[in-house]
Amino acid sequence: MVNRYNMRRSNLGGTRSMARGRRRGGFRWQIMLLFAAGAAFYYFANQETVPITGRKQLRTMKPAQEIQLGLQSYQQILADNGDAVLTSGPVVDAVNEIGVKLARQAEGMMVEETGKETGFDWAFNVIESPQANAFALPGGYTAVYTGLIPIAENEDGLAVVMGHEIAHALAHHGAERMAQQNMQRIVSAGVAMGAGGMDYGAQKAVMGVFGGISQYGFALPFSRKHESEADEIGLYLVARACYDPREAPKLWERMGAQGGQTPPEFQSTHPSPATRVADFQRLMPRAIEIYNRSCSNKIQ
Ligand SMILES: [Zn+2]
Repeated sequence: MVNRYNMRRSNLGGTRSMARGRRRGGFRWQIMLLFAAGAAFYYFANQETVPITGRKQLRTMKPAQEIQLGLQSYQQILADNGDAVLTSGPVVDAVNEIGVKLARQAEGMMVEETGKETGFDWAFNVIESPQANAFALPGGYTAVYTGLIPIAENEDGLAVVMGHEIAHALAHHGAERMAQQNMQRIVSAGVAMGAGGMDYGAQKAVMGVFGGISQYGFALPFSRKHESEADEIGLYLVARACYDPREAPKLWERMGAQGGQTPPEFQSTHPSPATRVADFQRLMPRAIEIYNRSCSNKIQ
C-alpha cells in the first residue's frame, strides 16, 4: 500500500504538473473518512445508558470484566500500602458504617433504575496517608485516605465524598474512558495515515491540531461531565442514605480551598467551583425530596 503510493509519487515528479504536484502533498481525506466511518460504527454499536441521569455513553467492557479489573487494582493498592491500611479505630468504623449504608442504597437505587443489582462485592478500607482523597473502583472497592478526614469535617462530608466516588463506579466512568481512548486511537490512526503523504512539518502540524481537538474538545469535557454526573448521582445516594445533601456544596468548597490555584475550566478535568455550586443549587430540591421520602427526620 505504502510502496504503491511512493511509486506513484515518484512518477509524478518534476514540474510537469503543478496542479497535481500540489495535491500530492495534501491530506488524504478518503483514508481519514474510512477511519472516521469505523470510529462512528464503533461508537454507535456500543451505546449504553447511565442509570439515574439517562445519559448515553460509549462502553464496550462487560460489567463482570470491570469488576475483575477493579478487584485486581484494589488488591494491588492495598498490598502496596501494607501497614498503612488501618484495621481498627474510629475512622475505620465511620468509613465502614457510611460505606455499608451507601452500598445498600446504591443497590436499591440500581434495582429501581435498571431492574437488577450491581453485582458489586463492596469493600471499604482506610489508608493512612496525608492526601485528601478517596476512590471507589468498579465492584465497589472503596478506600478513604486519612488526609481526607479533617476536610470532610463530619459524617455528612465523608458520605458526600464516598457517595461521589461510588457514583463514578455505578456510572461505569472507568469503562467509558477506556472505550473513548480506543475510539480516539482509531481516529488518530486515521489522521496519521491521512497525513502520511504530507511533508514532515505539515504532518506534525496536523497531528498537533488533532491532539488539541481531542484533548480540549473531547477528553477534558468528558472528564468534567463525569465529575458533574458523579456529583449528581452521589448527591441522591447520600440523601437516600439519610446523610444531609446540603453538606455537598460546602464539602466541595473546602476541597477546592485545598487545591490552591485552579486552572480555567476549559483546561481542567473538573468543573469550575462556580459551575459546581450552580449545579448543586439546581439538584438540591430533588435531593431534599429524596431525603424526606427516605428518612425519619425531615429537612425543612
Ligand atoms: Zn470525581
